[in-house]
Amino acid sequence: MKLLLASSNRKKLRELCGLLAPLALELCAPQDVGGIVDVVEDQPTFAGNAAKKAISAAQHTGMWALADDSGLEVDALGGAPGVRSARFAGEPADDARNNAELLRRLAGVPAAERGARFVCAIALAHPGGILAATFEGQAQGRILAEPRGTGDFGYDPLFLFTEPGYPQTGSSFAELDSATKSSVSHRGRALARLVAALPAIRSESLD
Ligand code: IMP
Repeated sequence: MKLLLASSNRKKLRELCGLLAPLALELCAPQDVGGIVDVVEDQPTFAGNAAKKAISAAQHTGMWALADDSGLEVDALGGAPGVRSARFAGEPADDARNNAELLRRLAGVPAAERGARFVCAIALAHPGGILAATFEGQAQGRILAEPRGTGDFGYDPLFLFTEPGYPQTGSSFAELDSATKSSVSHRGRALARLVAALPAIRSESLD
């Protein structure tokens, strides 16, 4: 099975390739197929945006396509920035400005009320451009008052992973190397669900 990873984010591609490596799949990146069409991410949910991207990539290439959409939901902000996470501080998307905007909006909010979660939806589309399935993963945490760590990207330096019982508990996502982060991250968890379901999806599509 040839699977197109429909993302132009190099860090995401590396993470997806690493997690999918154990499966007998031929993985392709957008550059292997001459690029993919840009999709407007205008859906109200992560799952909707991921599905839109996967379906578009499958329609334009005739391949199985996988796409994700992800972001941060902060309780004290009513779930914002949510699907607007990449452009929270406006255009163009900029991690440093987004983090500054997040800290500004949470100024004065006590630690106990800074609960948040990362959410990731991963969608898989059939070569014919029909949605096969979507999977979601979440990671629970709290927004720090100041950045900690320098790893990875986005809101990681402000996201303290708080789920009890993990070696990663009490670390910010930016303090973890990418494999350690992936084993508890929203993207890692969504992908683990996809990996578990893939054999059944493949055999159904061969029937
Ligand atoms: P998209 O999934 O490429 O649309 O990205 C959405 C935005 O959510 C990114 O630009 C980041 O700001 C944020 N985001 C998603 N996943 C992560 C993560 O694992 N760490 C930090 N920020 C993330």
